[in-house]
Amino acid sequence: MATIGWIGLGNMGGPMTANLVQAGHTVRGFDLNPGAVAAAEAGGVTSVAGIEDAVKGADVVFTMLPKGEHARAVYLGEDGVLAHADTSTLLVDSSTIDIESAAALHEAAAEKGFRFVDAPVSGGISGAKAGTLTFMIGGEEGAVKDATAFIEPMARNIIPTGGATTGQAAKICNNLMLFINLASTAEGAVLADRLGLDKQVFWDIASVSSGDSWALRTWYPVPGVVETAASNNDFAPTFTTELANKDIGLAIAAARDTGTPLEIGTHVQQLFQRLIDEGEGGKDCSMIIKLVDGSLQ
Ligand code: NAD
Repeated sequence: MATIGWIGLGNMGGPMTANLVQAGHTVRGFDLNPGAVAAAEAGGVTSVAGIEDAVKGADVVFTMLPKGEHARAVYLGEDGVLAHADTSTLLVDSSTIDIESAAALHEAAAEKGFRFVDAPVSGGISGAKAGTLTFMIGGEEGAVKDATAFIEPMARNIIPTGGATTGQAAKICNNLMLFINLASTAEGAVLADRLGLDKQVFWDIASVSSGDSWALRTWYPVPGVVETAASNNDFAPTFTTELANKDIGLAIAAARDTGTPLEIGTHVQQLFQRLIDEGEGGKDCSMIIKLVDGSLQ
């Protein structure tokens, strides 16, 4: 069984590490937030005082951090992963971050003789808990193969995407499509209601018709239709508007760099920004429906 260093024990990292512990691995975890550390300890993680203690002598180090700036700080900082890990330790970043930061991490790791892969995930908190995430892994072939063995207890699908940063590219494009689907679902749901359709009847039709999507089946923004939806729970977050705004912003930045017009994606980002400006950034992103039904302006 392996010794795993883990940095970032939040909504995703917490349940992901619990699955590694369940599989028999020793996980040494670190997070700046004591609440996150306590929850991870309850799942069997051994908490340590800092990055150095988490990474020293580990077989593999995972990071699950909010944004590119956090990943850069954790890997490249004076007291960071590259400063303290042995070069034999495989490095896996599962955060969703911008392509530029992912490329910088690949480069810095390679310069110091480390094997590094970008391995973001899809499947949300429920997938993290159930061990059914989809991992998309970019990097050198041997490193991707070695990472796969450690990832298995957390995943249903593990898909190599190609060279450095292609895992992040896949994740960013997937989430662009997800949030556009979410916005279209919110518009369809409100219009259906105003045309006199019963919410369940309309959902039953759309979910087996060409309007179907993962957002419709999992995050339906009208309460009382889909069990997993945040709409049932006053939009308590399963995926915050802040994170959704970050992810669609990553797509927009990548589109700018590649001369790709993302007219619809750009519009959806503006909707998320309006929710944030209304003070709702910490609520679930499916709250976008309130901009369609008029309960928020
Ligand atoms: P989160 O904010 O709940 O967790 C991130 C953790 O990183 C926090 O506990 C924070 O304290 C910690 N952290 C930040 N800087 C640190 C540092 N320097 N040292 C140690 N710990 C540090 O976020 P999350 O929901 O777990 O998401 C993590 C990543 O996964 C994000 O990039 C997100 O976009 C992505 N993701 C999230 C979901 C989801 O449904 N929540 C789904 C797929 C992917």
